Amino acid sequence: MDVIDRSQKNKPSASSSDGVRSTLPLYRTAPVLEVRLEDFERFAVDRLIVLRGISDGLARGKKPDEMEKLVRDLWKANMRHPQASEDLNKDLISHFVLRLVYCRSEELRKWFLSMETTLFRYRFKLENSDHLALMNELGITYEVVSSTEFGDNNLRENLNLVARSVNQPLPTPGGLFKVSFEQVPELVATRKVFIQKGYAYVGVNQVVSFVVPHFRSHLSKALVLTNRKWTSMIREQEKDRLTPIVEALATSYLGPDYGQDREFGEISLKDIDQVARTSFPLCMQHLFNALREDHHLKHGGRMQLGLFLKGVGLKLDDALAFWKAEFSQKVGSERFDKEYAYGIRHNYGKEGKRTDYTPYSCQKIILSTPGVGDHHGCPYRHFSEENLRAALGKMGVSSRALEDIIEKAKTRHYQLACTLTFEALHNTSCDAGINHPNQYFSESQKILKEKNTSTA
Ligand code: SF4
Repeated sequence: MDVIDRSQKNKPSASSSDGVRSTLPLYRTAPVLEVRLEDFERFAVDRLIVLRGISDGLARGKKPDEMEKLVRDLWKANMRHPQASEDLNKDLISHFVLRLVYCRSEELRKWFLSMETTLFRYRFKLENSDHLALMNELGITYEVVSSTEFGDNNLRENLNLVARSVNQPLPTPGGLFKVSFEQVPELVATRKVFIQKGYAYVGVNQVVSFVVPHFRSHLSKALVLTNRKWTSMIREQEKDRLTPIVEALATSYLGPDYGQDREFGEISLKDIDQVARTSFPLCMQHLFNALREDHHLKHGGRMQLGLFLKGVGLKLDDALAFWKAEFSQKVGSERFDKEYAYGIRHNYGKEGKRTDYTPYSCQKIILSTPGVGDHHGCPYRHFSEENLRAALGKMGVSSRALEDIIEKAKTRHYQLACTLTFEALHNTSCDAGINHPNQYFSESQKILKEKNTSTA
């Protein structure tokens, strides 16, 4: 796959140039096609939205039929190209770009492997794939059971017995394959297949259970190989062009930047304590309370809370007054003006390079590493269980919801734990999940304002 600059056009199609079939791709080899730099990143982001949606669905414990709907909707919303003939190219390009992104550590490989395999499993079902073509491509040796063999009453009886016991449709002539039993360990282990003379007799609807492990094992090996190529060659060769994109993608936040919350305008100093109680996520409530108690926050905390407050609409003058009121109690107002006011004006783009800094996303906060005396970070990740329980109790989370939240935090689903907290406190569902503290704030304000209007 060659990546070309945005000025270059006329990229050939994968389907026309390299003979890739129109069935569900197995991603055995990278396609021979040129990709525009902008598509390289855009397609990968679209696929990442699908994979993160799947990850969220699994973490929420969705049932197979709910997952099927989720995968269908996510794919339709994000992976369709405006030109239908380019759908396949988008699918291939996005997969191979994310392979580069997620090959770079054991943890990243594990996540990608698991999400891509789940995606493949559901697409296999949803897209009515050509089973024989897929088995051929995967190098699975099989025989279609002949009508003569199928005519054997003894065999049919055994096949019907197994089919009934596992609630599968009865096999039909032409829809039954013989494969060596070692190729279907999942079916053998769960006794879902009839075995005779070393062959497993597999119905069409069971093909998925041995195609998926093949897909998974191939992708797993391919990720390790990609990692070697990345470390030995690509990272250095592409250091000025693709490497920064690839490195940013794994931790990228994919939603709006909440630079300014236009929807709800400004919050004023007189309301700040009340909105902090009702609409700040736990990370910000913790910082806010620590500031009110200690009259001080270290740099990481000042950045995380300061940019969040800017995002929820606190104007620069109010921000200066707010921080000064607290800090001056500890360090005096002169020292505040000298040492701390600059940082606040800087966050608002009024000093230094005059960059208009945006608030931190959950991912950035979760990946931060607070030290002793720091209050920034994500409590679902950085608090001890005991402290998290106490903090959630203080927020007003019921004991029934609390156990679920603690469980999600323990299994490292921090944003889901935060989403469940939001749902418990606002008594409503939040299907999009919490990805940004300012999103938490906006959604909360929206709900509270609607409630106020309906009770007015
Ligand atoms: Fe804050 Fe996000 Fe953690 Fe919630 S998940 S506490 S919004 S960082």
